[in-house]
Amino acid sequence: MVAAGMAPASGLATEAICARVAHQLRNERHIPYFEPVANLPGFAKALSATLTELRLENAAPAKLRDAGAPGRDLSALLRLYEQKLNEAALADLAMMLRLATAAALEGKHRFANRALILFDPPMDTALQRDFVSALASRSPRIFAATLAGDEKSIATWEHILGIAAVRPDTDAAPVQLDRVRASLFLPQPQEPAGEDDSLDYFSAPGEGMESVEIARRIRRLAEADTPFDRIAILLRDPERYQPFLEEALRRAGIPAYFTRGVARPHPAGRAFLALLACAQDGCSASRFGEYLSLGQVPSSGSTAEESSSLPLDDELLSGFLGLPEEREPKPFAAEGADETADENAPVSGGALQSPIGWEDLLVDAAVIGGVERWERRLSGLKKELNLQSSELDENSAARHHLDDRIRRLENLERFAIPLVRRLHALPGNAIWSEWIAALTDLARAALRQPEPVLSILGELESMGEVGPVALDEVIQALSDRLRFLRREPDPRRYGQVFVSSIDEARARTFDVVFLPGLSEGLFPRKMMEDPLLLDAHRWAPLTVQDDRVRRERLLLHRAVGAATTRLIFSYPRVDVAQSRPRVPSLYALEILRAAMGRLPELRDFERRAAAGAEAHLDWPAPRQHRDAIDDAEYDLVSLDDALRNKRRGSVRYLVEVNAALGRSLRARAWRWNKKWSYADGLVDPDGATRAALAQYGLTTRSYSASSLQQFAVCPYRFFLHAMHQLRPREEPVALEQMDPLTRGGLFHAVQRDLFAELQSSGLLPVNRERMNPIRDAADRALDRVAAQYEEDLAPAIPRVWRSEVEEIRTDLHGWLSSMAASDEGWLPIHFELGFGLKPDARRDPASSAAEVILANRVRLRGSIDLVERHETRGTLRVIDHKTGKAPDRPPVYVGGGTALQPLLYALAAESMLGARVESSELSYCTQRGNYQRFPTEATPSARAFMGRVLEIIESAIGEGFLPAAPQQDACSFCDYRSVCGPHEAQRSKKKKPERLEPLMELRNMP
Ligand code: SF4
Repeated sequence: MVAAGMAPASGLATEAICARVAHQLRNERHIPYFEPVANLPGFAKALSATLTELRLENAAPAKLRDAGAPGRDLSALLRLYEQKLNEAALADLAMMLRLATAAALEGKHRFANRALILFDPPMDTALQRDFVSALASRSPRIFAATLAGDEKSIATWEHILGIAAVRPDTDAAPVQLDRVRASLFLPQPQEPAGEDDSLDYFSAPGEGMESVEIARRIRRLAEADTPFDRIAILLRDPERYQPFLEEALRRAGIPAYFTRGVARPHPAGRAFLALLACAQDGCSASRFGEYLSLGQVPSSGSTAEESSSLPLDDELLSGFLGLPEEREPKPFAAEGADETADENAPVSGGALQSPIGWEDLLVDAAVIGGVERWERRLSGLKKELNLQSSELDENSAARHHLDDRIRRLENLERFAIPLVRRLHALPGNAIWSEWIAALTDLARAALRQPEPVLSILGELESMGEVGPVALDEVIQALSDRLRFLRREPDPRRYGQVFVSSIDEARARTFDVVFLPGLSEGLFPRKMMEDPLLLDAHRWAPLTVQDDRVRRERLLLHRAVGAATTRLIFSYPRVDVAQSRPRVPSLYALEILRAAMGRLPELRDFERRAAAGAEAHLDWPAPRQHRDAIDDAEYDLVSLDDALRNKRRGSVRYLVEVNAALGRSLRARAWRWNKKWSYADGLVDPDGATRAALAQYGLTTRSYSASSLQQFAVCPYRFFLHAMHQLRPREEPVALEQMDPLTRGGLFHAVQRDLFAELQSSGLLPVNRERMNPIRDAADRALDRVAAQYEEDLAPAIPRVWRSEVEEIRTDLHGWLSSMAASDEGWLPIHFELGFGLKPDARRDPASSAAEVILANRVRLRGSIDLVERHETRGTLRVIDHKTGKAPDRPPVYVGGGTALQPLLYALAAESMLGARVESSELSYCTQRGNYQRFPTEATPSARAFMGRVLEIIESAIGEGFLPAAPQQDACSFCDYRSVCGPHEAQRSKKKKPERLEPLMELRNMP
């Protein structure tokens, strides 16, 4: 190859060339038969398989052209494929075999002129046979062995060597395994014979439990001194079984050697593919979100090692690198293993700390197109969150939560913009070497473990001059390989159980072989014709259905032949993914027919196979402790024994070894007990908790009215909300309407602006005579504020934004009309009067950063929307504007403790402004609230009720009694249900009622 100036082409490079060839001929309309499917994702892979077979069989071009419409297209594809290989000086498998054969014939091959021993070499294709034949022709002495059932290979060897094959005599006293080896698929089986332990079988409910049973049996074998490396698990379908086996063997503590034939999904490849799809879709937010969701973000400041010798992810090419170095095996890194545990770090465990549902908020349509749109939309979103945050009490959990979202959004902005810039800069059309350079940079910048992706890109190095190709083609060529990345195998297989595909067990033997998956449809596999060249268009020696059947049978021969002492086969009797039963395959029955000399009764066979594994889907554990593969199974065996035999105290060790389980079980018992206990929320805490609680007294720190209202709903909710500041889980919001907080913020900003303008232009109070100029002023204020907000927030869907603004206009007009209709001589004097909150230019100048301290020393903070003075009486009225739905039962004074805001704001305004407040009003100023107004007179009895409310809350905090005692239906709408669990209302009703009397008194207040 070196002399011919050629480089080896990996399987991936071959597929990439096939994609190029198909793309070109389709565009030139030279493949009319394949044109409708030539751009589908699987076409390049299928084409690569077909062309490889044609080349390995030395298919004559004339025969191909005569093979109907598909043959004509394939002939054109093959011609161009060969031309591209020549231009790029690449050698595919067929070319390598040709070169090797020529070298062998000339005596230059390293195996030429040597005595040879060949065990079961692959001889399925013409070029493979030519190569072996060339080696044999130059060998002074040769010994060749092949499988007893492989008549085609035996005939080939007889032809090559010119002698008849020697068939070894069968053992005089064969065990079952010998009988299987000798009689598999023979029409006349041997005489019926008895059973022995060289053959065993079982079935399990699903591949997962089948793998666990294999692990259990391997432990027993190891106990009986069978070394791990004398045991093999041979798989017909490695992709299906490998994750289950890996997990089961890990649980059982069994070291295993997974060969190159075993791969598993790797998030790095998928994340990279998602990024390429993002670039393909014009930098869409949802694709970018898909990439982030795979947790492959590099930690900030980290750079991937520049490595020139990455392991190549190709069986063929890696052979060119020689033997692997002796080094410590490198497992897949545990997720998050190299990351800080600090949850405030921008990247934790490969996951970027970004707001949940951000991609929905960004909206694809608003960002597709490039970096500028991303920048504008992210900055708009940040401003919107800032606006929403400013609407909330600055000490509230919701405000902290929003501030956290803003911090996360800034993380996202810092990380996403440079990456989007890279995606945007990917070439449109370029030769492969340019793509490889660009993709290598991208992988290093975007992946925390780029090595597997880089090794795949490394496979394409040899085809650097091929192209130009577009991103679609690049994705098509890489997608299969990026979805499933192979794990680098350990350098040495010894000391470990050998796990491989059946074909990789050629010429190997083991004491014990496990052969799982003998279910119908799994092994033998359903025989599929080549989709590009159906059997009807094929000619000898191309593979047809009979050859496929023969090769499948040889796989069973090979697996059986690999076992020297014992074969254990098994099958999953349930398809767990589809909840369907499975039946054993004909091969399972064939093994028994060969072993016993007769076909077993199917029902008996199934029953006995099922009895071979004790674990069930509903109780995944064996019967005996000694058979447990790990702690979980051991505990299940103990529990099963305790329940069956009513052994009290026999599983006590569980609560001793696991303190959390003990706590949980005890707490469950206490919660259903009549006595109030620590398990019922905050009840009778210890000294340290009481001391901590002292900081939360109503006279020690300030509360907002809305926090205090939580107490009557449920004291525990008040505790979680106001003291622990637990926040509800972040949920993505639908963008079909404006976020309620954004809407409320916009509405309040317009009201504030409007009152300021009306005051400066002498248009207050609002009444019918001034309605026209007031409405005009309202429209101007709305247009002004909405335009500013639109500029700042860059709303994702302009149509939604505009329709919401028009709704707000309707609401504003309706609210002003309702104000004018109730003109009772009140003049607005303060707007957004804050107390106990940080200074903010948007608040009324009379606002104070100091908390209001009420007569009973209770500390309060908040912001009053509007304070009015009566033009004749000089007294004050406090208005709180609401944009939501009005309550069905308006409060008289304190509304059972859930409507404290009106009176508390009245008391706060009196304290701040030094004038008596007559009344306080909840004003619903939107159509949704029907413009209703609920006044609460600040009478002496109202004040007395408020005093008692605060006394009850203060004493509950002082006493440390804040139990889960919800109001009717409160749990149904509570954010803390996941903290409390179900049935809190039922449980609290079972408790002794005396201690809840103050709470009941509060709930019964008008
Ligand atoms: S879920 Fe029920 S019991 Fe728990 S805090 Fe909420 S209202 Fe109270």
